[in-house]
Amino acid sequence: MIRITNTLTGKKEKFIPLKAGKVKMYVCGPTVYNMIHVGNARPAVVFDSFRRYLEYRGYSVTYVQNFTDIDDKIITAANEEKISTKKLADRYVAEYFKDACTLGIRPATFHPRTTDFVDEIIAFISDLQKKGFAYFRNGDVYFDVSAFKSYGALSHRKPSDMRSGARIEINESKDDPLDFTLWKAAKTGEPSWESPWGEGRPGWHIECSVMSSTLLGDSFDIHAGGNDLIFPHHENERAQSEARNGKKWVNYWMHNGMISVKSEKMSKSVGNIFNVREALRVYGSNALRMYLLSKHYRSPIEFSAERMEESKSAYGRIANAMDKINREIGECQRIEEDEFMREWRTRMIEALDDDFNTPQAFSLIFEIVKNALLTDDRDRLAKIRALLMEWNYFLGFDFEKKSTNIDGFVEILVKLRNDARTRKDYEQADEIREKLKELGVEIRDSSNETIWRWL
Ligand SMILES: [Zn+2]
Repeated sequence: MIRITNTLTGKKEKFIPLKAGKVKMYVCGPTVYNMIHVGNARPAVVFDSFRRYLEYRGYSVTYVQNFTDIDDKIITAANEEKISTKKLADRYVAEYFKDACTLGIRPATFHPRTTDFVDEIIAFISDLQKKGFAYFRNGDVYFDVSAFKSYGALSHRKPSDMRSGARIEINESKDDPLDFTLWKAAKTGEPSWESPWGEGRPGWHIECSVMSSTLLGDSFDIHAGGNDLIFPHHENERAQSEARNGKKWVNYWMHNGMISVKSEKMSKSVGNIFNVREALRVYGSNALRMYLLSKHYRSPIEFSAERMEESKSAYGRIANAMDKINREIGECQRIEEDEFMREWRTRMIEALDDDFNTPQAFSLIFEIVKNALLTDDRDRLAKIRALLMEWNYFLGFDFEKKSTNIDGFVEILVKLRNDARTRKDYEQADEIREKLKELGVEIRDSSNETIWRWL
């Protein structure tokens, strides 16, 4: 039985889906105005892996991850480049899919975008207004927090505490500092849509309430995202959805911890971000996946060169074992299911059923990998490989990718080529470059260094 720590109750609970055998899950996706950074990659990888684990455990999963394709940051970035917000968003959605593919993240069942749901958003806000949860002021529509009795339940805050210290900005005309925007009146130069409240655009929180109810229904099983979204984003999503639907919206709330750099949260506003593209170039996708999954998803993790090198060598241990097995027993084998396999499988399921305890899962993997390195028993090796392949369904590594341990050999060849260039033996230098290219390594020379990467 899978157990999940539910942010709403603060407890580890048995996972019982609304419909037996089926899971409906929504994960807040990126705002597409820039390349994604390692902090954005954590929920994407962790919940991709969790979704695969649910499938491994026999559930059929409908997985929704949105793209926020209209907001202040997108408008500012598009204006700076003098292009439309659509063009900018399209570009970064494409870049996201490129990184996600390299990272082994499977596409969601649905990837809705805010601007495709404006009609549904308008209908949803109209419902809230009819039911007395929303009010109109000077072109904007606000959610009336005082009308929703359990506001604060998800983030475990009391509205009265939140009110003290909160204030209403001069340009806002809301009744209560906690009220938040559902619909924003159009400003000049911004994209806008017609609505019963005049030209305008949706606020941020409303999109997730609308896209999830359109695609998953008014109640569903799991809502996930980074724990920086608990307040206000998820608190507000929950208020909107339950106010409109008049029933419980989400049964389990899962939140991943933040990634920090030198103890500060990785974020664009702090300016300490490491792009996924860059991390993939430097460390490779398997090391990055290893790094993102090796700590428990709820714990904070530190991002540093040392941590990444550790992850790279940790993945290398698994890849080494796979290489050894492939060398020693060759291609496919007929495998007889036995006690050894059943026991290991049970241990793995026990670890991951317990709130998706991936550190425990990896300690089992390292134990079995050690077994593989110590034995010459071909039958045993074949079984270990079968288990590793089976578990890779949710780990999502690319075992076919060149082992990171080959990197050291590439370094040596790149150095030999540089030596050849220094002594002006360009023929030899070009030959090494061509041979490396055939092996899937691209070399680029700049004025003072040579960099290389796997193609
Ligand atoms: Zn959201």
